[in-house]
Amino acid sequence: MSAQRIITTRSAATVHGFTRTTNHEPTAWLKNRLQLLAADLDAGHVTHCGHLNGNGAVGIIGLWAPRKAVCRDCQHLIGIQGAADRTCDRCGHHDPAGVTLSAVRPIPALIVLMGLCDACQRKEAAK
Ligand SMILES: [Zn+2]
Ligand SMILES: [Zn+2]
Repeated sequence: MSAQRIITTRSAATVHGFTRTTNHEPTAWLKNRLQLLAADLDAGHVTHCGHLNGNGAVGIIGLWAPRKAVCRDCQHLIGIQGAADRTCDRCGHHDPAGVTLSAVRPIPALIVLMGLCDACQRKEAAK
């Protein structure tokens, strides 16, 4: 899988108001997580909200709950609160000020969200 295919956040930016980073090379950590996610999807280990039946809807998966995919209208189903919502999905660092929600779009039909601390955000999104 090329870097160009892994990081294409144009639509995520449109939907969620993210800053878009084009063709950024993902770290080994992110590549690995996306590979694990793809394997889980292929194996049928990922459930969904009921609205992602090949009708063109874009699925959304949070790396904090990687076995649950939701449509745009069901994002509340994967919402987390409190300390978990301020914990980095990459390194586990808890930041009382909160983590930055980031997104990658490995394939057109899927947006993968993750909350990153400042240090991990710098590693995953070149600025
Ligand atoms: Zn839904
Ligand atoms: Zn981190």
